[in-house]
Amino acid sequence: MKYSSFNLKEQNQKVESRIVVALERISEAFRVLLWNESKENSLSPIQIQILIFINFHSLEKCKVSYLADEFNMTKATISDSVKVLLAKDLVAKETDPIDTRSYSLSLTTEGKKIAKKASFFASSIEQPLEKLTEEQKTIMLNGLLKLIYDLNKSGIITIQRMCFTCSNYQLDNGVHYCKLLKSQLAESELRVDCPEHELLL
Ligand code: SF4
Repeated sequence: MKYSSFNLKEQNQKVESRIVVALERISEAFRVLLWNESKENSLSPIQIQILIFINFHSLEKCKVSYLADEFNMTKATISDSVKVLLAKDLVAKETDPIDTRSYSLSLTTEGKKIAKKASFFASSIEQPLEKLTEEQKTIMLNGLLKLIYDLNKSGIITIQRMCFTCSNYQLDNGVHYCKLLKSQLAESELRVDCPEHELLL
C-alpha cells in the first residue's frame, strides 16, 4: 500500500480508505459499548464475550481451544478468563463422556442471566441500521460478508461460520442456494453465523 488510510489528504481521495476509517470508528463504538457492559458486571470484555458466545452456541463449540480461535486469542488467555468465570460460578464444566480430559463450558443460572442481558450490548448500533432501506441493508450486508470472507482467506479473521465458507453453499448464475435447507437464499438472507455451517475443506 502506498499510503495510509488515516492520511487525511489521501483518505479524501479514496472511498476504500474512508470505508476503512468508518469501520474503525464503528469498532471503537463496539469497544466502548462492550467495555460499559463489562464494567457493570465487574468482568472483562472478553469474559462478557465468552458468556454471550456460550449462550448462543452448541456445547461442542464451547471449548477453550475453539473460543481461542473464535476470539483470535491464545488458549492461555482464554483459560485465564474461564478460570475467573468458573470461580464466579458463571460457567460450569461439562466433561466429554468420550474423552474425559476434554470439557465444554455451559452457563450457570447466574451466567445465563448476565449473558442474556449483555447480549444486547450492541443494540444501539442496530437501531440506526433499522432506519436504512431494505436495499441499503442488503448492499451493506453483502459488502461486509465479502470483506469478512477475504479477511478470513488471508488469515486475519480465523473462524467463520458464514455461507461463503460452507460446504452447503452454492452460487449458480448469481443465485445463492443452501443444499442443507434445500432453499434459495436472497442476498439479505446470507448468514454470518449459521448453526448448521459445515466448513468447506
Ligand atoms: S448451512 Fe447455513 S451457512 Fe451453510 S449455506 Fe446453508 S444457511 Fe449458509
